[in-house]
Amino acid sequence: MTEKVLIHSCCAPCSTVPVPALKEEGFEVATFFFNPNIHPYTEFRNRLMSMQQFVKSMGVTGFFYTGYPLEQFLRIQLSNMESRCEACYELRLTAVAKKAKEEGIRLFSTTLLVSPYQAHDAIRDVGKAVQKATGVEFLYTDWRPRYRETRILSREAGLYLQKYCGCIFSERERYLGPRGGPSGSAGPRQRRASRAREESGNPPVWPAGEAREDDGDTGPRSSGAAPETGL
Ligand code: SF4
Repeated sequence: MTEKVLIHSCCAPCSTVPVPALKEEGFEVATFFFNPNIHPYTEFRNRLMSMQQFVKSMGVTGFFYTGYPLEQFLRIQLSNMESRCEACYELRLTAVAKKAKEEGIRLFSTTLLVSPYQAHDAIRDVGKAVQKATGVEFLYTDWRPRYRETRILSREAGLYLQKYCGCIFSERERYLGPRGGPSGSAGPRQRRASRAREESGNPPVWPAGEAREDDGDTGPRSSGAAPETGL
């Protein structure tokens, strides 16, 4: 029987390499767009619609969380400012692992692993911790060497390409730099991201990422409910 994997999709562009790669490895792939970290709502909608377009083109099963729990997400961020990205990864990967469990899928992963702008080691560590907490196995792959390919494929497919990671803090960083202006303080993620940008010479384009779509052929069916994430 074909092994299934549920991959967290932060956005359509970052899915363009991992999803086909997993299919080529012989997995039956399903995606889960669970990204309450994307601000403001119009940006969230653009990324959601782009992901719906991608899922349809790939003919894979897509799950989408269409809730927009802004206050709850910001509460988590504001109480973890120094490690807000780790908290953000944990929230999203936990939701995906729980969804996999609900759907009877043994493995989960994330398209965040393709981006040189993300805190890659932290994502891997959080994935392993979520595996331990949920019993759903985290499938780790370093897709970063293929990041540029994701941009080319996205442009060819006419997918929406965002200009910042997702949260309102990363949007500020886009204009004011990692310290967020005179009174801001750079967290570990911002420092890593700035370093990665400098080393790669890439422009600051960030990955991103709701509803339920079972066959990639219809619009999203929103359950509005997050899988026990506290949101
Ligand atoms: S910068 Fe990105 S990963 Fe970090 S908290 Fe914001 S949305 Fe989440």
